[in-house]
Amino acid sequence: MAPIDRHAEDRNTPDHTPDRGPDRAPDGAPDRSPDRSPDGGAPDPAPEGRARGRLSAEQPSAEQPPSHPSDRRPPADRRAHSHDSAAANPRATADHRGAADRHTATLALAHALSAAERGLAVIPLSRTKLPALRSPHHEDPQPSACRGECGRMGHGVYDASTDPLRIRELFAAAPWASGYGIACGLAPYHLIGVDLDTKSGADAPAALRELALRHLFTIPETVVVMTPSGGRHIWLSGPPDTVVPNSAGRLAPGIDIRGAGGYLVGPGSRTEHGIYSTVPGTAHLPPAACPPALLRLLAPSPRRRPSPPATDAPPSAQQGHGLVQFVLAAHEGQRNTRLFWAACRAYENGLGEALVGPLTDAALRVGLTLREARSTIASAARLTGHD
Ligand SMILES: [Zn+2]
Repeated sequence: MAPIDRHAEDRNTPDHTPDRGPDRAPDGAPDRSPDRSPDGGAPDPAPEGRARGRLSAEQPSAEQPPSHPSDRRPPADRRAHSHDSAAANPRATADHRGAADRHTATLALAHALSAAERGLAVIPLSRTKLPALRSPHHEDPQPSACRGECGRMGHGVYDASTDPLRIRELFAAAPWASGYGIACGLAPYHLIGVDLDTKSGADAPAALRELALRHLFTIPETVVVMTPSGGRHIWLSGPPDTVVPNSAGRLAPGIDIRGAGGYLVGPGSRTEHGIYSTVPGTAHLPPAACPPALLRLLAPSPRRRPSPPATDAPPSAQQGHGLVQFVLAAHEGQRNTRLFWAACRAYENGLGEALVGPLTDAALRVGLTLREARSTIASAARLTGHD
């Protein structure tokens, strides 16, 4: 798939100026102009939509994919390009920025279409990384359970499609889109994203290495996407019969999992903080199969269930028993990780208070000290918001 590889190669130069997004004029002029809403990057796409409706009306071609190779240059080059244009053509700065925004939207669409060619279902994202299209049910008094059955757009990840026509429709409805999201958990890859965050202060890569050592798995060669903040998204493929739920910090501090119902910001996307790009040499790889030992940590129920996701399961005595057994079965070297994991699950499912005693007992039986056990369970409580 030549186009996507070329994109990836182009993007492999990290953006060293993440703060200098396209919201700022190339000439450094303050970010205030008639064609921008004052809150240009706000999560609510509506103000931007109104502010830019005029632009998209003038330029229906914004929804067309780039046809000239120069259109596929990375945005870092694009800034230079629009600066050149500014020198050559004495139009108002606002017009340049409008062109830059259209260019960003066009690039986002091109990247999204490339991802879709690989079988990845996509949605347009705004600069805030949120779905660009507002819910058609946003004025309903109650949160809507509609996942697109109404036939309209704006259902977040449920809008995701691999159909180029549908993708063009979605981006045409969101001309302010600057990136795209890739839906996780869908055929053919049943994508699982391991999100190693660096912002939280946790050393997420080290935490993952430790997990891998303890649980005897290795992360295979696969697509890795760099985030503007220096984080990494590792793409893995899950089995079709296993639902991996989304989680934040459950595996270890700083490690978030994007699973069913979640999405990953696709490489080539531009956000408020910069550009997402693939790690050199990984763009052409298919998402590698998730190692079974890691999968057990991500979807740990021995009873595989197609639906609903694990987080919807009601608390039960059986579940509590399973968590205690999970700790009791720990080998030396796994004890603390297993206790931590089980305690997180217990708190997430409303069993935390009931299981502090049994989990502590189990931890003592496998050889942890009382102090270690209490400290680990307390960490789990903090992480899940139960301290
Ligand atoms: Zn709906």
